[in-house]
Amino acid sequence: MSGDRLTLQGLYLLGKKRLSALPGGADNSPMEAQFLWEKATGLSWRERLLRGEDPVPEEGAAAFFSLVERRLAGEPLQYLLEEWEFYGLPFLVGPGVLIPRPETELLVDRALEAVEGCPSPALLDLCSGSGCVPIALGNKLPEARLWGVELSPDALGYFRQNIHSNGADNVTAVAGDVFSLPEEVTKRRYRVITANPPYIPRDELDSLQAEVRWEPTLALDGGTDGLDFYRRLPGICLPLLEPGGWLILEIGEGQGAAVAELAREAGFGAVQIQRDLSGLERQVSARRP
Ligand code: GLN
Repeated sequence: MSGDRLTLQGLYLLGKKRLSALPGGADNSPMEAQFLWEKATGLSWRERLLRGEDPVPEEGAAAFFSLVERRLAGEPLQYLLEEWEFYGLPFLVGPGVLIPRPETELLVDRALEAVEGCPSPALLDLCSGSGCVPIALGNKLPEARLWGVELSPDALGYFRQNIHSNGADNVTAVAGDVFSLPEEVTKRRYRVITANPPYIPRDELDSLQAEVRWEPTLALDGGTDGLDFYRRLPGICLPLLEPGGWLILEIGEGQGAAVAELAREAGFGAVQIQRDLSGLERQVSARRP
C-alpha cells in the first residue's frame, strides 16, 4: 500500500503536467508548479530534491491540487501565492490590488537617481496600489520620508500591511483621490513624485491577457485613449514639487510622445522618455524648472 502513496516529487510532477495546459504552459509549468508546490506543502525546492520520495501529507496534496485547478481557471499565480517580489522585497497581493510588475522597478531606479545628493528628501507616490514603489524607495532611502496615495480601500489594505511586513516606518499610506489630494499630502513639497497610474485604453481592457482581467479595473482603466491621468497629473504635481524636483510617470506602449507633450504643456522641462529592458517606452520623467 505504502508503495502507492503519492510522493512529494510525484505530486510536483502531476501538477507540472496539468499546468502545461495553460497558454505558454510548457515553458512556465515547471516554475509555476514549483511555486504552488512550495505554497501547498510549506517546503522549499531543496526539500523536493532531498526528500522527493517521502509521502505527501494528505492536506498538502489537497491544497496543491486546489491551487493548480484555480490556476488553470485563470487566477493569477501571484494571487494564489498571496505574495510577490518587487525590488527584492516581498509584497502581499490578492484580489483587489494590482500585482507589482518587474518593469515598474524602473520608476524606483529613476527616483533613486533623482534624489542623489539630497540628504533627507520627501517623496510622494500616487496611485500606489500595493505600495510597492514607495516601500521599495523607503527601503533604499532610510533617511527619506515618503507618502503614497491610494483610492481603493482594498488596495490601501494591502499597502498598509506591506508597510508593516517590510518594516517601512518612513512610508505613510494616505487614503485619497489623486484628483483632489488631501491636505496631508499637499501641505509639503517633494523632491520626487512617482506614479504608475491606470493607462490602458478602455476598449483594450477586454482584450488583455486572461490573468490581467482578474486585477482591479480601477488600476488599469485609463479612459478612452488611456491618457486621462496624464492630462491632469502634471498640472497637479508641478506646484507640489520643489524647484528642480522630478515627476516620474510609468506609461503604456506608444504613449511616450503624448505624455511628454502633456508634461511640457504643464510647464515641465528636461522631459525624457525612457525605455524598459524589452525596448518599449516605459516612463516619462520631467523636471520642475
Ligand atoms: N502594466 C500593466 C499592464 O500592462 C498596466 C498597469 C497600469 O495601467 N498602470 O497590465
